[in-house]
Amino acid sequence: MKKTAVFAALIAAVALAGFLIYDGVANKTASADFFAMNTYVTADITGKDSAKCAEEAQKIVESLDTAVLSRTAENSVISHINLNGAGELDEKTAGYFSKLIEVCEKSGGAFDFTLGSVSDLWSFGSSPAVPDSEKLSQALSHSGYEKIILSGGRIEKSDKEATLDFGAAGKGIALDEIKACLESRRVKNAVVSVGGSVLLFGKKEFTVGIRDPFGNSGSYVAKLGVSDCCVSTSGCYEQQFEQGGKKYHHILDPETGYPVDNGLLSVTVISKSGLLSDALSTACFVLGIEKGSALAREYGCTAIFIDEDKNIYVEGDSGIIEITDGSYNLTERT
Ligand code: ADP
Ligand code: MG
Repeated sequence: MKKTAVFAALIAAVALAGFLIYDGVANKTASADFFAMNTYVTADITGKDSAKCAEEAQKIVESLDTAVLSRTAENSVISHINLNGAGELDEKTAGYFSKLIEVCEKSGGAFDFTLGSVSDLWSFGSSPAVPDSEKLSQALSHSGYEKIILSGGRIEKSDKEATLDFGAAGKGIALDEIKACLESRRVKNAVVSVGGSVLLFGKKEFTVGIRDPFGNSGSYVAKLGVSDCCVSTSGCYEQQFEQGGKKYHHILDPETGYPVDNGLLSVTVISKSGLLSDALSTACFVLGIEKGSALAREYGCTAIFIDEDKNIYVEGDSGIIEITDGSYNLTERT
């Protein structure tokens, strides 16, 4: 072999080795699994910065929980406002409030983040039971998002007894913060789930299953093909209990204080925004198929409703690849 050919082959070999090493680093995967925000969190991250990001993702969720959103952590922003009736917010937190107030308004109050005292009476996290109706209407009289006034960076409650509860949107907010972190790092793709809210990060198309509301946590009714978005599901099977032969769940009708009873079993919302996917899945559950679809449309999101008669209604572009359980009927609304 001529000297130049040997040299060229050597260069090619070095380049290939370099590429393989680079590709190996670029495709490095790291994971984190932990418990925060009263739920399980898992992150699977691929890319050069995957290990660093997995650590950061955990810190983000934990500090968002204890410093901002938790109702039980003494020094969180929410606890402070609940206790003192007012508080100063940093720009990011004020942004969350502003977006959620908009969801409250646009949903006509179906989404309401002031139901804390009402949901406490149901004791979903501990020993759930149907509350005394007198106490329930008392707590309900102090709730209502209209009692929350956001002005610049200051938040104030016009009724001191109104209790803020970000339980229906906090997991989505966590996904948005993690997404911002991943965007600032060398990450190819990632899947992060905070309870029933999942971030699919990157160009890769992921397959996501929608849980069978009649089955256990590993059973699915449909597969979605999605990329670069957040998918949240609000389901009545979460935190459900039975009393006097009747089932009760944790998604409450802000007009009555009782669990929503409209024939829906779950609503899944797909959005670029974690906050919106989480808040709208709860809002659409409360609103039902017609009004919920209109709300999802207004936000340009996809909503997938499953009812007790095993109908699946889709508003928007679902990316449904397959209905994996033939006993369900699919109706695409658009
Ligand atoms: P999960 O927390 O199981 O993911 P959701 O996102 O639907 O489910 O949030 C339900 C939680 O939100 C409840 O546990 C309660 O804290 C709160 N919540 C209940 N009803 C409403 C409502 N109508 N609007 C806003 N928050 C609600
Ligand atoms: Mg929600």
